[in-house]
Amino acid sequence: MIKRKIVLLGATGSIGTQALEVVRAHPNRFEMQVLTAATNAELLIQQALEFRPQAVVITDEGKYAEVKAALTGTSIEVLAGSAALEEVVQYDGVGLVISALVGSAGLRPTIAAIKAGKDIALANKETLVVGGQLVMELVSKHGVNLLPVDSEHSAIFQCLVGESNNPIERVYLTASGGPFRGKDRAYLASVSHEQALCHPNWVMGAKITIDSATLMNKGLEVIEAKWLFGLEARQIDVVVHPQSAVHSLVQFEDGSIKAQLGPADMRLPIQYALTYPNRVGNNFKRFNFADFPSLTFEQPDTDTFRNLALAYRALELGGNVPCILNAANEEVVAAFLKGGVGFLQMSDIIEETMATVGHIAKPSLDDYLRTDRESRAIAKALVIKNKTYII
Ligand code: NAD
Ligand code: MG
Repeated sequence: MIKRKIVLLGATGSIGTQALEVVRAHPNRFEMQVLTAATNAELLIQQALEFRPQAVVITDEGKYAEVKAALTGTSIEVLAGSAALEEVVQYDGVGLVISALVGSAGLRPTIAAIKAGKDIALANKETLVVGGQLVMELVSKHGVNLLPVDSEHSAIFQCLVGESNNPIERVYLTASGGPFRGKDRAYLASVSHEQALCHPNWVMGAKITIDSATLMNKGLEVIEAKWLFGLEARQIDVVVHPQSAVHSLVQFEDGSIKAQLGPADMRLPIQYALTYPNRVGNNFKRFNFADFPSLTFEQPDTDTFRNLALAYRALELGGNVPCILNAANEEVVAAFLKGGVGFLQMSDIIEETMATVGHIAKPSLDDYLRTDRESRAIAKALVIKNKTYII
């Protein structure tokens, strides 16, 4: 079997390390061509010594010397800086790029990979939130596959196999509800980032875990679903399903609904993106119905968790507004993780940023990058203003 060569952007993260577990489980199928990380030099070095890629990238240039020294004497090339991500995705022989870095930093390397004709396994939902219209135009222009890794979108993708001529009436994205499901605003006013980081069902990176607590993660996923499956906002519903067993559902024009179920294990959607259209055996833990005597479904509380409503508003407004929403969100989440802003203020700052930054109906890549910068600056200033106000 010819091995598929993989570039893994964000190798040291939650998705990155699980992608490497999938590769480890199938040594005859895959080979790591490039591994990248932002700052975790120690883990990147360890991964490089195990997987022996052609190159590694450490985007934090201050860590270059450490990685270079550790890999001296091997044939592994060491690159530094964010621009290198756009280079390595274009290497000859690359069969798949797994985009598993976090935030809008994923946009440029993903676009570079698509333009070079590489298939993408996309975990980095922010790329589609920020530049969905542009990214999808490039995907069709260059004829590449964009395979979802996000569990909900993988579920929808799996439900659509064999349905190519059958239009989707509606999709239902399931949401666990996060650690604060059922809580009111009075309770949320004083929750800490430590409490928000305790997700009931999934162990993930810090940013997406906070997004799950605020329901922004589901809002980003609604926008991601629009672009991946060509849907209108009114065709995308969110249903809270605290057991995280049903990963999402598709309703067709005859009223029939297909759902995809399985263990809450990201290695499954990662593996499906890597082996699509085939399913390949593994020894990952199986679903046990005895653990789930009941599966429940309820409406999300968007009055309390306003971020989901803000994401729908951004989707309706279109253009660069989802980019504004995303950039402001990245800033408030970073501030919340440092204790610099309260849980409920995150939505207020995102809303104010969306009202302040100029809207552009059909943005170019430069417009997106400018909007991202400007929105971050405004959200940051609002965080500081808020802090002063609290004191
Ligand atoms: P993480 O924080 O655990 O890992 C992020 C990775 O990206 C790390 O390797 C880090 O070094 C790298 N990185 C971070 N910022 C970077 C930057 N500015 N430039 C270059 N590299 C950078 O995050 P994660 O939880 O693995 O999530 C990754 C992406 O996958 C996110 O977009 C997230 O929404 C999505 N996702 C994650 C999960 C999950 O279970 N963790 C599930 C669904 C979707
Ligand atoms: Mg998800």
